[in-house]
Amino acid sequence: MAFYKDETIEEVRSRNDIVDVVGSVVKLKRSGSNYFGLCPFHSEKTGSFSVSRQKQMYYCFGCGKGGNVISFVMEYENYSFQEAVKYLADRAGMKLPEPEESPEEKKAQGFRNDVLSCLKSAAVFYYRRLYSPEGKRAYEYLKKRGLKDETIKSFGLGFSGKGHAEAVTYLREQGFDDKVITAAGLCNISEKYGMTDRFFNRVMFPIMDINNKVIGFGGRVMGDGEPKYLNTAETIVFDKSHNMYGLNVARRSRKPYRIVCEGYMDVISMHQAGFTEAVASLGTAFTPGHANLLRRYTSDVRLTYDSDKAGQNAAMRAIPICASYGIRTKIIHMDPYKDPDEFIKALGSEEFQKRIDEAENSLFFEFEYMKRDRDMSDPEDRTGFQNDVAKRLAAIDDELARDNYIGAAAARYMIKEDILRRAVAVYREKNEAAPDVPDTMTYEEKSPKQKKTDGGGYDKAERYLLTWIADDRRVYDAVKQYLEPEDFSEGVTKELAVALYDGYERGDPSLAGIMTRFAENENASEAAALVNAHLDAVETESDRAKALTDLVIKVKKHALERMKDADDGRDPLKKAMEEKKALKQLKDIRISI
Ligand SMILES: [Zn+2]
Repeated sequence: MAFYKDETIEEVRSRNDIVDVVGSVVKLKRSGSNYFGLCPFHSEKTGSFSVSRQKQMYYCFGCGKGGNVISFVMEYENYSFQEAVKYLADRAGMKLPEPEESPEEKKAQGFRNDVLSCLKSAAVFYYRRLYSPEGKRAYEYLKKRGLKDETIKSFGLGFSGKGHAEAVTYLREQGFDDKVITAAGLCNISEKYGMTDRFFNRVMFPIMDINNKVIGFGGRVMGDGEPKYLNTAETIVFDKSHNMYGLNVARRSRKPYRIVCEGYMDVISMHQAGFTEAVASLGTAFTPGHANLLRRYTSDVRLTYDSDKAGQNAAMRAIPICASYGIRTKIIHMDPYKDPDEFIKALGSEEFQKRIDEAENSLFFEFEYMKRDRDMSDPEDRTGFQNDVAKRLAAIDDELARDNYIGAAAARYMIKEDILRRAVAVYREKNEAAPDVPDTMTYEEKSPKQKKTDGGGYDKAERYLLTWIADDRRVYDAVKQYLEPEDFSEGVTKELAVALYDGYERGDPSLAGIMTRFAENENASEAAALVNAHLDAVETESDRAKALTDLVIKVKKHALERMKDADDGRDPLKKAMEEKKALKQLKDIRISI
């Protein structure tokens, strides 16, 4: 992976004042030495989002998000680290050096770039074709489907000609090597005909990755040819289980949820109607790769799969996959229409927004699905259904959620609540999984950072001490002879300790600079919280010294215990002696600042 040098990143960071960057998207008011505004990452009525010009950091006291200017841009724009650095460099008028790469990387990167530019040229070719006499029928088809010219343009829709090697010929003329055209997935090769176009007589949908690069195509045949839809096969740039159609636009949506639908046309018509949060999987079922991609942007997915049997089956498969990535799912009902495209055409976007808002909890969708082929007036079918419901409820691990769902299901399906409750308890005891539901399924809402419970207060001591170290160089100077970064517990505390020690040793512990280390790290907000925490003022010098001494002893003791318990292959006797000696030394330390 190519990367920028640390100095470059630090320069980009320091040339973008955080108050200016945040202030361009959040209305900030000055209060004391900080600025406050409404948090852009959670909804609130009073501003608990603070920005410090002095520290060059932001922190939200409401939702706990925090970091430096790079992590702000990543979070706000849904950018990757590299993209955020690039964006900020542009903003500051800096020209970034090329990211560093090894020669092999350069070579592979070169070929990859050739493939990408070949795909881009092909997209241009197809787009122009749409407006040629040959493409008239395809253009009319798109207009008949209700697409505006600007929509056709923004999605770069096109038409592949009727000849058998038109695109190949064009691309060769553009200077692309046969190897590149083949690797781009744009041709078929046969002994008889040589290289021919993979796509012909099709409306072309360029597929873009999240950086707006064309990585493949979907093509819908004009007329009755087979298959109706044809996609680019997997290539070095196109991996359909890790990309989603429309995500290049949808990722920037400010809606708290994303809509997942079945096809290209659904995405396009939703975007045209203003629902730019819609994406589709690319001619494949929803995969774990898709869930992993989506969770970068949301933990709330609304499914609008076709109301036919195939669509409902697809939704049933997507629900547990999302759940296993901590994504909640809801189902948007479109009846009496088949898909979002039809729905919006018939009833308009306001009605569609209502359906989005009324989206049904996917658990009830599952129950309805279980009911589908059963006759509820038949006692046997009814019993079977109720048992399936009980089994499914039994699979919910969170007790409160389970209890609520039991009540709701009992009311909805007119099952006696106490009977249902007992049935659920029996299934839980048997530990039977629900039918067709993987056991990864859970309906509890995962809070992003659940603090571990902390038995001896060590965790709190470590955190407090780090906050103090970050705040005051003198504390670092006094503490460093007693504590190594390794004395802090694994995780965010140790990472932050390493970063702070390193920063002080280099002379300039720029906290905002340190935060860059955490930008791509799940501990980013927690680290920011630590260095932004407010320290209760300790008044007298002797109180300060005592507090600091206590903290150091507490942290060191815990470190020694960990060392003793660690299965590190060292002689236990030797370890015990070392510990004893270290503990004795601890008794004598007196730290003052
Ligand atoms: Zn917030």
